[in-house]
Amino acid sequence: MNNIISVPRGTQDILPVESRKWQYIENKLRELSNNFCYEEIRTPMFESTELFARGVGETTDIVSKEMYTFLDKSDRSLTLRPEGTAGTVRSYIENKLFAETIKPQKLFYIGPMFRYERKQKGRYRQFVQYGVEVVGEESPMIDAEVISLAYNIYRSFGIENIKVAINSLGNPSERQAYNDAMVKHFETNIEEFCSDCKIRIQKNPMRILDCKIDAGREEITTAPKLLDYLGEKSRAYFDEVTKYLDSLEVKYEVDPNLVRGLDYYTHTAFEIMIDNPEVELKTLCGGGRYNGLVEMLGGPEGEKGIGFALSIERLLLALESENITLPLDDGIDLFIVFMGKATDYAVKLTNDLRLAGFKVQSDYFDKKMKSQMKLADRYKARYTIIIGDKEIEEDKLLVKDMANFSQEEVSLADLELYLEKQLRGE
Ligand code: ATP
Ligand code: MG
Repeated sequence: MNNIISVPRGTQDILPVESRKWQYIENKLRELSNNFCYEEIRTPMFESTELFARGVGETTDIVSKEMYTFLDKSDRSLTLRPEGTAGTVRSYIENKLFAETIKPQKLFYIGPMFRYERKQKGRYRQFVQYGVEVVGEESPMIDAEVISLAYNIYRSFGIENIKVAINSLGNPSERQAYNDAMVKHFETNIEEFCSDCKIRIQKNPMRILDCKIDAGREEITTAPKLLDYLGEKSRAYFDEVTKYLDSLEVKYEVDPNLVRGLDYYTHTAFEIMIDNPEVELKTLCGGGRYNGLVEMLGGPEGEKGIGFALSIERLLLALESENITLPLDDGIDLFIVFMGKATDYAVKLTNDLRLAGFKVQSDYFDKKMKSQMKLADRYKARYTIIIGDKEIEEDKLLVKDMANFSQEEVSLADLELYLEKQLRGE
């Protein structure tokens, strides 16, 4: 016998019991996106490596450690996408969406992302992100709308124990002044920090605040606060965003040490966290404004953007830790039990009812009636129909309600309407 081949480390199969949940979640995400007037964009699963190097930033964990990069047969350097913003913005520029009459463009995506990460709970090498990007124009109302969408996604699944952590990263010149202050603050003790932080202090000192290894150090708590370095305009923008969050009843906390992993963020940065001390992995979703990105990727000047991304894997973990079961409908509408010469009739009826929009199954193997009834139970059928020669001759189909075992005789012509009424109350 040959060896079994396992899934690659950090990936998983999603089997039917789980995929029902995924479908439910994805449908809901699409529905909410539609209501907020976001339209779907689908970009390739791999892109030129340069896109991420430029668009995400060389000093980020993603680019410096986590990318699946390979040469194709023509020696092009390609990378499996680790996130969705760079590809979306590339597409926005390449397809001239900035010239559309509706601005900003409000886009969403759902799809797999790939990062070479250490495998841990809630951290996979292939995971599915849902994200939105609003590209073109800027307004504090847009920032608040995006945050409210993210927040209400969790609430729409019944996850109430969440809060938004929010900060402003200012504009590039404010951040420069801040970064200078950060260098001063950290340089005396930088030898005691991890090797990544020693690089961060040179390349992007702000990122030290995001270090998972040095997180507990006193220097981190006492570090200069970005909010103190904001000019009047940036401060006013931030105040407007939080004012709208108040009126949208989004629960948030200003976290002056919140910096996001990606290089291109400006102004609003936020994360959505589980507000439950027993849960270790708290961050469910991250996002923020990236006003410099379009230009950095070769697009026109002055195009603004904001977005967020969340993974469905972490959403599922949150549902689990909050003890929420999704209202999944895992049964079928109807199981058709048949005997004798009724096979042809039953095969045709099964097919017709399926095409009429019902979830219908019947037996393939000439099983005895009792075994067919057992199968109907396993399928969790809400109704069964029992068909024999007599039922066909008299055109009286016996429809049985499996919840209370009541039954009724229905003619073939009336069957669809009858089922419609019973199942959907129509
Ligand atoms: P972290 O600090 O947890 O590594 P990140 O900054 O790398 O997060 P983002 O790039 O902002 O995360 O991705 C947005 C969201 O996608 C995260 O908040 C998280 O919910 C989810 N996510 C990120 N990486 C993974 C992964 N490897 N597996 C599953 N979900 C992930
Ligand atoms: Mg990460």
